Amino acid sequence: MPRRLRAPELPLDVRRRDGVERSPALVVEAVLDALPSPTLLLDADGRVLLANSAWGVAADLLDDERIAVALGDDYFAMARGLSGDARTEALLEELRELSRGERATVSFDYALANRGGTRWFHLQASRVDQAGQIVVTHTDVTSRVRAEQASSWQARHDHLTQLPNRSHLHDLIDAELCRLDARPVTVLFLDVDGFKDVNDSLGHEVGDDLLRQLAGRLSSRTRAEDTVGRLGGDEFVVLCRDCGPAGAEVLAARCQSTFDEPFLLAGRSIRLSASIGIATVDAPDVTGLRSTDLVRDADLAMYAAKRAGRNRVRLFTPDLRSAVQQKALLPAELYEAIDAGQLVLHYQPIVYLPTGEVTGVEALVRWQHPVRGLVPPCQFIPLAEQNGVIAPLTRWVLAEAARQTAAWDAQGVHLITGVNISAAHFTTGTLVSDVAEALAVAGLAADRLVVELTETSVAQDPDGAAAQLAALRVSGVEVFIDDFGSGFSSLSQLVRMPAGVLKIDRSLVNGSDSPRSQSAAAMAAVVGLAQACGMRSLAEGVETAEQLATAVELGCSYAQGYHLARPMPAEDLIRWLAARRAPQHGPARAELVTAGS
Ligand code: C2E
Ligand code: CA
Ligand code: CA
Repeated sequence: MPRRLRAPELPLDVRRRDGVERSPALVVEAVLDALPSPTLLLDADGRVLLANSAWGVAADLLDDERIAVALGDDYFAMARGLSGDARTEALLEELRELSRGERATVSFDYALANRGGTRWFHLQASRVDQAGQIVVTHTDVTSRVRAEQASSWQARHDHLTQLPNRSHLHDLIDAELCRLDARPVTVLFLDVDGFKDVNDSLGHEVGDDLLRQLAGRLSSRTRAEDTVGRLGGDEFVVLCRDCGPAGAEVLAARCQSTFDEPFLLAGRSIRLSASIGIATVDAPDVTGLRSTDLVRDADLAMYAAKRAGRNRVRLFTPDLRSAVQQKALLPAELYEAIDAGQLVLHYQPIVYLPTGEVTGVEALVRWQHPVRGLVPPCQFIPLAEQNGVIAPLTRWVLAEAARQTAAWDAQGVHLITGVNISAAHFTTGTLVSDVAEALAVAGLAADRLVVELTETSVAQDPDGAAAQLAALRVSGVEVFIDDFGSGFSSLSQLVRMPAGVLKIDRSLVNGSDSPRSQSAAAMAAVVGLAQACGMRSLAEGVETAEQLATAVELGCSYAQGYHLARPMPAEDLIRWLAARRAPQHGPARAELVTAGS
């Protein structure tokens, strides 16, 4: 391989300052040799006049005969031999223009693939003289390109799992949706059930380990043409190309099967499951759907799968989207509903068992929606709690319940009314003043209103809650503990609460049809616990005569439930009470009169 090529005649006129003439050829050769990059001197026809030493070193290093040049070799032919594409032709044309003096410089980046791998070069050419000779340097920029590639790869991938990240996934999905030969596209959204528990109980490092293992399993279970990516947290997305709903369900089943085997985490074998949502678009060009739409739809389907009890697959349907839109509108609508008088209270009677007398009622809110009809509280109270609407809503309930109780008073019907208070209301710190205001406005005595709250509502801020409850107690308002026995009960918390009545959750009462049943035994324990804490007890959700008999037998003070009466509008209550007091309905206790509405 020729190393050093000497041009026979170089027209350059190079003289030393001392006046001693040197051969111009030698001077040019020395200058080019001083350049660190492989450099060639070409004549106007692209023939090689000179190659510097760096060229020789590079040719040796790359061990590639295609770049070995000899004097007079055609540089253009060599370039075409390396890559005959349109870019090369454009470059050669630019070099010719440079030689003719039609442009000042030429710059060009290219990759050279040979058996040693791929290296990247930056080509820079300039014209030397009127004769059209040009100098072409080829700087090896491989390390810079590799660094750029690495950082661009990192920007597109998740550092934990090495999978495509959120923005790259959206780019890939959008590219698929924009294809001219519109093919069905499916997005699968997977969320690990109970991932937070793993993180909380075993630590974040173990959580990370789980995500890495899962990423590996998902990648190995999907087809080569699918892309698995991680959106963040424990949310993974699979982009299934050319795949409709049927294929997607097969894929979903395969993804779910990645959970068949337990995960080995922190030396323990842990079984987990996942909820999967699928959104498919058959003709992307027609629907004009974007990646963000499709991923959101799959996310909605995943949430529906979670709500349905986890560890299942759900296909997206448009009603899921309208449900979300409804939810988003709800807080604003609820505010308006309060002002527009669309909320109503129904009252469920509470019977004092030793005498069979109705001593009180529980106020239960409903929403008389202009379109949806009478909406039960379970459909809006949880949302009101999340959106800060609960405090104004509860203020309305307190005011209305106090007003109604005072109105009944005026009719000679003396009842104690219970109002439900949410945990979120404690954090506002206004409970005591809200209750006081409702009583003052209605002109009602404090002992005619009780507040019902669950243990969990107190658990969030036990000290703050205890202070507010104590203040209520001092003012004469009694506290009922609601739904007792439905969750985890903490004895230490119970004894600290200044409560007068323990309401036994209907899940315990409902199964107590015989005094020897397990439910009855649990009920008996709760009644005993209430007595030990100096509280009375109330059996909630009494649906049968047997359950009522059990409540009486176990010594419950009060009972409430459909067997006695359903919640009813205020105006029905007076009639119901009158019917109940009629002479034929005399006896108390287990033969208590039943009613329904
Ligand atoms: P809760 O406080 O446990 O109220 C009792 C619920 O059980 C009521 O449902 C009542 O209709 C129902 N119930 C009563 N007897 C029986 C029975 O024998 N069998 C069965 N299966 N159910 C019975 P409702 O009115 O739908 O209220 C549900 C929940 O909504 C209430 O549970 C309470 O947590 C909440 N809620 C209702 N009104 C309000 C309110 O004004 N403020 C707040 N924060 N929550 C409220
Ligand atoms: Ca209640
Ligand atoms: Ca309850």
